[in-house]
Amino acid sequence: MPLDPTAPVRVVRRFEEPAERVFDAWLDPLVAGRWLFATPTGTMVQVAIDARVGGSYEIVERREGDEVEHVGAYFRLDRPRSLAFTLWVPKYSQETSRISVDVAPLEAGCELTLTHRDLDPADHAVAEAGWTTALENLAATLAQGRHDGCGSLAGDPDFPDLAEKRPRRLRMSVHQESATDAAGVEPQEWPRPVAEGLAFLRTGIVNVFLVGRPGAGDRNWVLVDAGLPGWADSIADAAARRFGERARPAAIVLTHGHFDHVGALETLADRWDAPIYAHAMELPYLTGRSAYPPPDPTVGGGAMATLSWLYPRGPIDLGDRVHPLPEDGTVPGLPGWRWVATPGHTPGHVSFFRDADRALIAGDAFVTTRQESALAMMAQRREIHGPPKYYTCDWEAARRSVEALAALDPETAGTGHGEPLSGEVLRVGLQALARDFDRAAVPTYGRYVGRPARADATGVVSVPRDVPHPLLRLGAGFAVGFALGTAVQRLTRDRRA
Ligand SMILES: [Zn+2]
Ligand SMILES: [Zn+2]
Repeated sequence: MPLDPTAPVRVVRRFEEPAERVFDAWLDPLVAGRWLFATPTGTMVQVAIDARVGGSYEIVERREGDEVEHVGAYFRLDRPRSLAFTLWVPKYSQETSRISVDVAPLEAGCELTLTHRDLDPADHAVAEAGWTTALENLAATLAQGRHDGCGSLAGDPDFPDLAEKRPRRLRMSVHQESATDAAGVEPQEWPRPVAEGLAFLRTGIVNVFLVGRPGAGDRNWVLVDAGLPGWADSIADAAARRFGERARPAAIVLTHGHFDHVGALETLADRWDAPIYAHAMELPYLTGRSAYPPPDPTVGGGAMATLSWLYPRGPIDLGDRVHPLPEDGTVPGLPGWRWVATPGHTPGHVSFFRDADRALIAGDAFVTTRQESALAMMAQRREIHGPPKYYTCDWEAARRSVEALAALDPETAGTGHGEPLSGEVLRVGLQALARDFDRAAVPTYGRYVGRPARADATGVVSVPRDVPHPLLRLGAGFAVGFALGTAVQRLTRDRRA
């Protein structure tokens, strides 16, 4: 985009839904609260929308203990074609900016043009990336609405409250009500089987695994990974359905500690009074000693890579609830299984393997959906890919890990993202990935390509310098800001690695 300081940021996106639905998604608190100014790990605490010209809105999300307020007023409302409002994020900025949303009906669906004015040019790239992500999230929210009928999405496309001269107020917790997932699977159908004594549950975009035979009972099964924040109840319900009411796991074991794999961990570990195990090299990131190397949003393209700026990378602190996996390769609570070191995606990433039937839980060592694309993830297409690019901090190690897993010749594999695979599809796909890893999985450029982050048992020792993405190269001004909602202000990022 041109570097004209007076030019607004403009983002265009097509939607399959009719213009009315796309328009209403900005103003219906139930829907807007799911995506507008929503971050992956935040909790939406208030969505108040007084949808009339001169009316105001207040959308408050709690992010890592802080309540971040987004406030503004509508100065144009012309359903379904146009809406415009001001935005102020008092926590981060003195400035107010203007946003207009124009929706053009198409023969099928519509095209939305978002225009954001009054921004500091240094924030343009970030705002553009932020809104691109936000509109992707809007699309995903609308797609999900087709399945689960949330809010007004499945109801009357009319928006009666627009006529009301009263604000609609709602206190809600967005993440906790994601009952039906994008694939349209009913909650009671989870967990789904992968192999004998192995089932999985999808929490949003991340899989967790329940290992143990059905009806195993108290302390006779193990949970592998703990999914996204807000999914503790869903995971516990699925476990109760499979293993019996009040059946607690013997342990919770982790493939790695990325936030999307440990979101419900503390809640569940407390509820079940269960010990947690991870590789010794992963412990610094689970005990508050070190943050992961910063994600590389320049690789992989797509919304999820952009979104990675939003991901918290500050370490969680599980204290003495987390223990190193036994050095002999056994897995506590899982006779017949062993852990296999598969570093690269993170320094202490492991996979779990059962020799008897060659069942594999691969975490993010490789995945079966293109993790960089929110849409591909929603659709859950089955393809074998290398580890999610934006977080992988050592590509050489990641390649050796995939080679090691391919050498195990797994019969079934469940991965951190995407559908489980088995048989020929898995065998051929994994062999091909191992053989052709550098071309198929490693990005052509990026912060960690050829220059890994270095870590030891105390955490991250060094990270290579950041490299600007060709598309985001806006000179030195683009440093470290982020977020949508927060896209208008500059957030100073924690640069300690
Ligand atoms: Zn990961
Ligand atoms: Zn992951």
